[in-house]
Amino acid sequence: MSQTRLSRLRILIRERNLDALLVTSLPNIRYLTGFAGSNALLLVLPRTAVFITDQRYRQQSREQVRGARRIIAKASLLEALKEHRLLRRGRVGFEAEHLPYASYRALRRLLPAVTLRPQHGLVEHVALRKDATELALLELAVRVTEQTFVQVLPKLRVGVRELDIAAEITYLHRRLGAEGDAFEPIVASGERGSLPHARPSVRKFRSGDMVTLDFGCTVGGYCADLTRTVAIGRASRRARQAYQAVRDAQEAAIAAMRPGMPAKELDLVARSQLARAGLGRYFSHSLGHGIGLRIHEGPRLAPRSRDFLETGNVVTIEPGVYLPGEFGIRIEDDLLVTEDGCRLLTSVPKELLVL
Ligand code: ZN
Ligand code: ZN
Repeated sequence: MSQTRLSRLRILIRERNLDALLVTSLPNIRYLTGFAGSNALLLVLPRTAVFITDQRYRQQSREQVRGARRIIAKASLLEALKEHRLLRRGRVGFEAEHLPYASYRALRRLLPAVTLRPQHGLVEHVALRKDATELALLELAVRVTEQTFVQVLPKLRVGVRELDIAAEITYLHRRLGAEGDAFEPIVASGERGSLPHARPSVRKFRSGDMVTLDFGCTVGGYCADLTRTVAIGRASRRARQAYQAVRDAQEAAIAAMRPGMPAKELDLVARSQLARAGLGRYFSHSLGHGIGLRIHEGPRLAPRSRDFLETGNVVTIEPGVYLPGEFGIRIEDDLLVTEDGCRLLTSVPKELLVL
């Protein structure tokens, strides 16, 4: 499996006229080799790949790393490149978004005859299309996330704080078999719900609150991402109408999804649906994003995105409306783009729940 990923990456490396690619992003190293530790480098060459880590990961890397020769560095990982004479000259790409400036300087000093070429998103490009192994892990992450949702619902009551529910979500993720949270859970109630990325606070739920829960866990490194907005005690007419409009927008986007489509066109489907309901100006963020080893990856589903949807992409669809000082509503599902449209990975109900 990692061999297929590496060979797809090598095609891009050749196209860019590079002699090698130095991979420093840990999620990318995990994607290419299976290594899940916290310190590593991967050098991808035309016919081989060399994985470098430190002493602490001798055993773990032996068990996890596939498709690359392993080196345990004595000093810094970058120095091992020189010490083992892995690179002496040629054009070497590096991950511009994932190489600290100090490391860049060290590389120039250690390998003076090498030409360093910044690269953007090469591994990320290969990772856009999920293979069967990845899909299985994504589906497991979705399952644990949904079980967490079902089990946390009975705890949402008047007087409970947002922070208590956030802690409960983290606890349930781990209890139910995940490695941890894919991101810090969002629990935003009442007027705080109108902040799309509110951090959980000490605010206590009151009757009539709309509460947005946005969370997800990771399994095998893969991230799920789910949002539901529920009502505590009762929901106002205005909140119900807004909820229905968001749901219609989300379902319209899901129905329109197909491979080959410009991502911005899909964004527009949801956006114009909300505009027709008179709520267009309250939808203040993009429609969705890819998920995988990172919680936010390509393709980007946004008004200015240049991405196209491709079979094998896994994306979120998450329209929302945020009425300042009143409430916020968002509904988010995870979907696989298929040859004939899409398949929903998430399955918890979308009717407005009044708890
Ligand atoms: Zn989310
Ligand atoms: Zn999301």
